[in-house]
Amino acid sequence: MTTPDRSLPRLIAALDYAAGQHRDQRRKGAEAAPYINHPIALLRILAVEAGIDDADVLTAAVLHDVIEDCSGPQQECIAQRRAEIASQFGACVLAIVEAVTDDKALPKAARKQAQVAHAALLPRAAKLVKLADKTANVRDIANSPPQGWEAERIAAYFDWAQSVVDAMRGADAQLEALFDAALAHGRSARAST
Ligand code: ZN
Repeated sequence: MTTPDRSLPRLIAALDYAAGQHRDQRRKGAEAAPYINHPIALLRILAVEAGIDDADVLTAAVLHDVIEDCSGPQQECIAQRRAEIASQFGACVLAIVEAVTDDKALPKAARKQAQVAHAALLPRAAKLVKLADKTANVRDIANSPPQGWEAERIAAYFDWAQSVVDAMRGADAQLEALFDAALAHGRSARAST
């Protein structure tokens, strides 16, 4: 008897868990889409567009913003979500999620700088999630920029996202090409408005 593959039920459980944790959140875009659309977009980019089939990477992609988006009593929330991810989805998935989680104790500018500095040092699994995250965000900002974001702020975001991705080149050619296409589209879409 072969061991049944539990990766699909685990992925579905991760979607359900993330939907619960993000239930009160909306995306920053003018459309204020439900937040869960974002982890689902990463899953689509990785599995459908780039053909990534590593179950830990896909599960971590679904959960990638769950720790970072803790609100309320921060440390308690972080500790609880870490423990839940480890027990329900495994230590490997938790390690990937933690690797792509920003340290919210840092001010925003330092956090953005840290992402550029740390990107090259990430394990490959975390790079894949981060590449998909940047691609999803660039697409969202191109299609539905956050309210109040002027051309300059959008251009600065695109430049920063490119620096993060440039630090990870060599991780996955297909994902990098998807990011490059999203960025080129975003820059031309913004240039024409
Ligand atoms: Zn994200």
